[in-house]
Amino acid sequence: MKILPEIEAMHEEMTKWRHTIHMHPETAFEEYKTSDFVAEKLESFGLEVHRGLAKTGVVGTLKSGTGNRAIGLRADMDALDLQELNEFEHRSRIDGKMHGCGHDGHTVMLLGAAKYLSETKNFDGTVQFIFQPAEENVAGGRVMIADGLFEKFPVDSVYGMHNMPGFEVGEFAVCKGPMMASADFFEARIIGNGGHGAFPHQTVDPIVIAAEVINGWQKIAARNVDPLKAAVVTVGEIHGGHTTNVIPEDVVMRGTTRAFEPEVQDLIEANMHRILKGICEAHGASCEFTYDRRYAPTINTSDETDEAIATMQELVGEEKVNTNVTPVMGAEDFSWMLRERPGCYVMIANGAGEGSCHIHNPNYDFNDQILPLGATYWARLTERILSAEAA
Ligand SMILES: [Zn+2]
Ligand SMILES: [Zn+2]
Repeated sequence: MKILPEIEAMHEEMTKWRHTIHMHPETAFEEYKTSDFVAEKLESFGLEVHRGLAKTGVVGTLKSGTGNRAIGLRADMDALDLQELNEFEHRSRIDGKMHGCGHDGHTVMLLGAAKYLSETKNFDGTVQFIFQPAEENVAGGRVMIADGLFEKFPVDSVYGMHNMPGFEVGEFAVCKGPMMASADFFEARIIGNGGHGAFPHQTVDPIVIAAEVINGWQKIAARNVDPLKAAVVTVGEIHGGHTTNVIPEDVVMRGTTRAFEPEVQDLIEANMHRILKGICEAHGASCEFTYDRRYAPTINTSDETDEAIATMQELVGEEKVNTNVTPVMGAEDFSWMLRERPGCYVMIANGAGEGSCHIHNPNYDFNDQILPLGATYWARLTERILSAEAA
């Protein structure tokens, strides 16, 4: 692996930063200590620091030379509502919260790159270091865009990176086009007419209707969406009734849908609503339906993905970069930045085999071994795209 020597020399320091952040996990829009930490570091490297975008977001601006080109590099800072089961020294000190997705590592890799680039300035143009809150559940990336991220901090292209357990340290994965799905969230309420469980003919039973609605929704992916396109409709919650012999007044269902294309999102939303209304009407019930397009599909653009691939291959060699990774139905709010600017989102391996477990697992930990590789990726990507020689 071709790690920049200046960054290799920071390995111990970066590991300490990572452990500090890991011990103090903060969740959506409450990343106060984490954003203080990030802002202090960026200021100490001499960057211009802006706070308060999407409440706890931080943007650090670094300029070099006279060029007008600009890129955005983005890391997420938030933790999960998860009780950590690890017992090592740097385990979470906050009950019920944990850096179980490795955003502590993402934050530190980008800080490491900021430190290196502020010292070496071997590029021409502007780098916006974007530290965003609330990646999990509530799409802080969407809020950053709504708060004017790219109007206030203009960039030509934008880049993101996530760690992924399950493949070997020193490997990367990416693909052009859709890499992760949209994640929309819905809530449906079926309003019937409750009564005695032994006298169903005097009621409108929302539980029986809900069963039919769920079956109907499953036919959207099976019968309505083009079989060559991907779609998921998952009902993850169903609430109705409280005892054995009473038919309840209503049933509430919540869940998520996934797709790679806006047209498929449109079709899923319209058909879910139509099926719900139709079945409720058929049985004399009424309904309510809300549908929130919270995460757009993550779509990597071609030229920017080529730059990312060339950078990764320079660091670890061609055979260690999977350039055609299979897309997944998981979602990522970096997608909102990719909707506004061309760019690329890559996966950096967190390691495989014994001791490695998946993200969102209470035994997960970001692998400190990859901190210098991730920071070097950011640094070399910047030096490639904003090359001082080409200026
Ligand atoms: Zn996560
Ligand atoms: Zn994550």
